[in-house]
Amino acid sequence: MEKTNHCGVCERQKPRGIYIYQMYICEDCEKEVISTEPGDVRYSYFLKKLKSINQSTIHS
Ligand SMILES: [Zn+2]
Repeated sequence: MEKTNHCGVCERQKPRGIYIYQMYICEDCEKEVISTEPGDVRYSYFLKKLKSINQSTIHS
């Protein structure tokens, strides 16, 4: 059984990407996040996603 990674930002199955904390981010979203300025809507959306992952890790 092949495991396909599920991107935590765009919520699609993507074969290529990286892990930040416990969240998988596909190549496309990674590029988007890197090129996004702080204060941008997408940037805060990304941060919110990351925080929720991070918190559940800390509280374990
Ligand atoms: Zn993605």
